[in-house]
Amino acid sequence: MRIAVYPGTFDPVTNGHLSILKRAMRVFDVIIAAVAVDNNKNTLFSLEERTALLQESVKDLPNIQVEAFSGLLVDYVKRKQATAIIRGLRVVSDFEYEMQMAAFNKDLYDGAETIFFTADTEYSFVSSSMIKSIAVLDGDISHFVPEVVYHGLRRRYGFE
Ligand code: ADP
Repeated sequence: MRIAVYPGTFDPVTNGHLSILKRAMRVFDVIIAAVAVDNNKNTLFSLEERTALLQESVKDLPNIQVEAFSGLLVDYVKRKQATAIIRGLRVVSDFEYEMQMAAFNKDLYDGAETIFFTADTEYSFVSSSMIKSIAVLDGDISHFVPEVVYHGLRRRYGFE
């Protein structure tokens, strides 16, 4: 069974994240969407909220598990017996950071390969931080996030 881990902050999950998950589902048997504890404590949503929003967003997708994790990613990957780490690439500026991360992770643990999926063109400019910047000003982000996230953001920013 091919198990992959898709790690991220998911603050909050967007349709871009979901498109990566859907692509990866064609390649792997099980994907664990792993929500990272934010050690700097500067996320908009708490770990529990980010996990719950992601859980709700993937409830109709088969073979996707959602879990929170802390500590070194490769230790978690090893514990889960996963052989791949999934990441998404949107624009060239993602590339340098992702290459560096992949190289470090490979050095720390040789048992998993980092696999990149390219973003859907429709969502290639979507990031959680841009979504928050627009939502806080009451801009319409409904096309870019799952419904549960849309309402979650509006509630958080006092528009509902
Ligand atoms: P991190 O803080 O680990 O970068 P994110 O939640 O921002 O966590 O992103 C997790 C992964 O999803 C990253 O590989 C990121 O490049 C990718 N990603 C984020 N948004 C999109 C998108 N719109 N399309 C494709 N991949 C994306």
